[in-house]
Parts: sequence; C-alpha cells; structure tokens
Amino acid sequence: MEQNHKSTVVITGASSGVGLYAAKALAKKGWHVVMACRNLEKTQRVANEVGMSSDSYTIMHLDLASLNSVRQFVNTFRESGKSLDALVCNAAVYLPLSKEPMRSEDGYELSVATNHLGHFLLCNLMLEDLQKSSASQARLVILGTVTANPKELGGKIPIPAPPDLGDLKGFEEGFKAPISMINGKKFKSGKAYKDSKLCNVLTMRELHRRYHDSTGIVFSSLYPGCVAETALFRNHYSLFQKIFPLFQKNITGGYVSEELAGERVAAVVADPEYNKSGSYYSWGNRQKEGRKSFEQEVSNEALDDDKAQRLWELSAKLVGIAPEQAAPTAVAGAV
Ligand code: NAP
Repeated sequence: MEQNHKSTVVITGASSGVGLYAAKALAKKGWHVVMACRNLEKTQRVANEVGMSSDSYTIMHLDLASLNSVRQFVNTFRESGKSLDALVCNAAVYLPLSKEPMRSEDGYELSVATNHLGHFLLCNLMLEDLQKSSASQARLVILGTVTANPKELGGKIPIPAPPDLGDLKGFEEGFKAPISMINGKKFKSGKAYKDSKLCNVLTMRELHRRYHDSTGIVFSSLYPGCVAETALFRNHYSLFQKIFPLFQKNITGGYVSEELAGERVAAVVADPEYNKSGSYYSWGNRQKEGRKSFEQEVSNEALDDDKAQRLWELSAKLVGIAPEQAAPTAVAGAV
C-alpha cells in the first residue's frame, strides 16, 4: 500500500517495545500513527527518543483495563475526524509472579481484561470506523505469541501450565471475584497471560469468520519473534530479565530486536503480501539473517470454531455489547 495520502493506523500500547517500534516503522512508511496509550507523557518522551517526527503521530489516551476508557477513546478518535485504515491490538501485560489475581476497573482478572476483553471491545467498536476506510483494504492485526500455541516448541513449556480455556466456565459465571481464570479453575498468573493470547487468536479468527466476506477487512495475527528485551518482562525476576535475552541470543537463537519486531508488525499492517484474512504469520523460532515470514498453523484450541463463537458471545456479555452489535453492513465491492 504505497500512500498518496496518509493512511491512519491506531496502535495500542505504542509507548514501549514492539508497539513503539511498529509506530516508528509505520511512520517511516508514510502512515499517520495514533498512539493509543495509558501514559501520555511517557508516550511523548519515547516518540521523541526514537526520532518520530511530530506530524507523524497523535497520542490519545486509552486504558485497556477500563471498558469505560475504551469507549472514551473511540469517542475521542471519532471527534478527531481521522479516518481509520488499520487497527493494531498490541498492548499487553504479563504478570508471571502474581500469587493473587489483580483486577481491572471492571473487576476482571487484569491480564485477560487488558489483553483480551479491552481489545475485544475496541475491535467491535472500531469495525465501524475501519469500514469507512477509503483504503483498498483496511486491516485489523492482533499480536499473538508462541507460548499460546502448543503446536510450537515454545508453546509446549508446561510452566505454569499450557493455555487452555476449558469449557469457558469462568466466563460463563461472570468472571468476577472469586473467579480469576477463564476455565474457572485455580489462579495461575502465567497461564492467564497465555489464555489471554489464545483469546486474541480466537477473536481474530472469529472476526474473520463473521466479517471478512461482508466488509473486505483483512483480519490477521502474528508472532513477531522473541523480543526478550521489552518491558513485557518487567514483572519477572530481575535475574530472569538479565538472563532471558542472553539465553535467546546464544542458546535458542530466537532473539529478535524491538526494531525488527516493530518492522514485522508494520509489514503485516501495510505490505501487499499480508492480505490473506484469517492468517497467523510467523518468522519462526530460530532467527536467521533475512528470515522470511510464513503462515503458522495455530493450536487445535485456536482452530476450534465452536469455541471461538462461544468465546465471542461470552466476551460480548462481559464487555456489555450485544454479540451482533458491531455487525457491519456490506461494503460495495468488498470481497
Ligand atoms: P511492552 O514493552 O511491555 O509493551 C506493552 C505495551 O502495552 C506498553 O505500551 C504498555 O503501556 C501497554 N499497556 C499495558 N497495559 C495497558 C493498559 N491497561 N492500557 C493501555 N496500554 C497498556 O511489551 P511488548 O513485548 O512490546 O509486547 C507487545 C505485544 O507483543 C504484546 O501483545 C505481547 O503479547 C506481544 N509479544 C511479545 C513478545 C516478546 O517477546 N516481548 C513475543 C510475542 C508477542 P506502558 O508503557 O504504559 O506500560
């Protein structure tokens, strides 16, 4: 998509790591980036630090751990008069050492609330904006991860447990205290993160199933590689934070810089070859110079269409929308 006029992309969590470098890379490709972040001052500072020109971005407040804030963000975006050509759901929290669940403003376990439910509401509300895009192809991209896919080596690590949404009993029962896990079982913080990332892929696939044919919007996910130096690991042991990048660089060969990860996200948002809706892209687990992307098969649970549909209905209830609320109408010429 070479730009004649500036296309606009919203990136959540653009104040750090993958999201910040995706913002930088998309600005370099000629896009206008709406950096949707919870800390406005920090976002301004890091945008300056990575050298983004002031006319290439707008910073808007978004706290994904508050459904009210998600709704306010969408209103602010609409009031700005900008069009929306791509949405990148990137923000996440990972809280591997929490013994007890932390809660969002709405009372939901914090990592599922931030990584899945906040984004689920945002996607539903912003489908309407994406539909109005004059770009030949609007895109909605959700970040996935290897640890949520047991078909890959990195997803087989059973610490504290593999991802598994079970029969969604925790969501069925309202997901408020004392419930903290989607399957309704005992709280395991690291698993809550993996579950939330599995929800991201199920949501992308269900968005594709529901809306791709009628709107032409391309829905996709990606694993940008192991970006071992981002602040995602800020809540881990400090020793882990030191050793993990070295381990990935020297033992597994999986290390990816923040800059490269950001460029990979930007490619999935903007480059013509990433135009197949419903795809999950990866550059593999071992990195080599010039590594090319491929379509990674997702886990059996992520491929379960009945589960995707049920997760959609229950998530809609938890964020306070009707399951069909977003239901965009067909766009002329959409494929
Ligand atoms: P990061 O550096 O910690 O960035 C996370 C971003 O999310 C930050 O901008 C953070 O804001 C934001 N955020 C957290 N809670 C939020 C909330 N309630 N509302 C709004 N924004 C919030 O992590 P990262 O490694 O770049 O992760 C980005 C994405 O890549 C995630 O989806 C992650 O699952 C995925 N990923 C990462 C890796 C990896 O190895 N790092 C691998 C695969 C996939 P603050 O700056 O205010 O904290």
